[in-house]
Amino acid sequence: MTNSGSVVVVGSFNVDHVWTVAALPRPGETLSGQYRTGPGGKGFNQATAAARAGAPTVFVCALGEDLGGQLARALAAADGLDLREHASHEPTGTAGIYVDHDGRNSIVIGPGANADLPVDFVESQRGAIEGAHVLLAQLESPLASIEAAFEVARAAGVRTMLNPAPADARVPASLLALSDVITPNETEFCAQLERHLGERLDASTVAALDDDALHAWCRRLLPHGTVVVTLGAAGCFVSHADVALHRDARTHYRVAAAKVQPQDTTGAGDAFNGALAASWALRPEAAFADHLHYANRYAALSTERAGAAASMPHDADVRQRFG
Ligand code: AMP
Repeated sequence: MTNSGSVVVVGSFNVDHVWTVAALPRPGETLSGQYRTGPGGKGFNQATAAARAGAPTVFVCALGEDLGGQLARALAAADGLDLREHASHEPTGTAGIYVDHDGRNSIVIGPGANADLPVDFVESQRGAIEGAHVLLAQLESPLASIEAAFEVARAAGVRTMLNPAPADARVPASLLALSDVITPNETEFCAQLERHLGERLDASTVAALDDDALHAWCRRLLPHGTVVVTLGAAGCFVSHADVALHRDARTHYRVAAAKVQPQDTTGAGDAFNGALAASWALRPEAAFADHLHYANRYAALSTERAGAAASMPHDADVRQRFG
């Protein structure tokens, strides 16, 4: 049965352990720092954003039989996420993060269960994927499992959105071919250009490219689909292969970021992706430009709060703030 307006997210869940320190530790050094913990993982952050943006959301993931798994279940229930969990023998994913007073960080990820999301488990969620409006994935889960989900979606005519993050993950051409929309940030965009076209571009120059030049790069990277490059405080740029499909008037354009007072931009990209998927799923008749405006506002608001999944606003917060 088609659950109109729903989003399926396939991805990771991590317990983030964050220490704020005066300076990042050197080898052999022991430091004290202010500690906080909270949920993260790109998949869970994006699923939380999609749910809080108002879309019925299914989250397909792998969790361990430990406290992290219990935390994920409790948080998913609190946000009304429909959790489809593979019970892994590996520990639930973790991230250890040191942040210094200049905002620089050092991060160690323990993928654990996230690396143990089997293809056949994802395929067993066929009904949820086929009933969704948008399938969204990132690259902290096994690529074969993401590709299996995208194949199910493509065969059922469900829109596929790939957030090619983190930048060092190896996206196969076959996965790009199954993606209707990709949403890299500047660094991830350059990583994909190098990987798939053998072209080297400096990430710091992307936002300064003129729109036609950026569009040309996007068309070479994803000839059949839409590329949304997120540009941090500069908002985002979109390049379509087919404007009619996305109910837009222009093939390529920028959407400025919403004006906010950022406190912590961790998870801003995840906020953007979850909100974009939700808006697209809930209002398929709207122009894509409207979804990008909403995602920009949603992501901007998330930067005014600390944390990853915890910083995701609710739809009512976005409407109250920006009208
Ligand atoms: P990024 O992953 O840094 O490209 O950011 C993703 C999205 O978050 C951007 O496309 C913006 O919509 C939003 N965003 C990030 N940083 C800011 C900021 N300083 N002010 C407003 N919006 C931001």
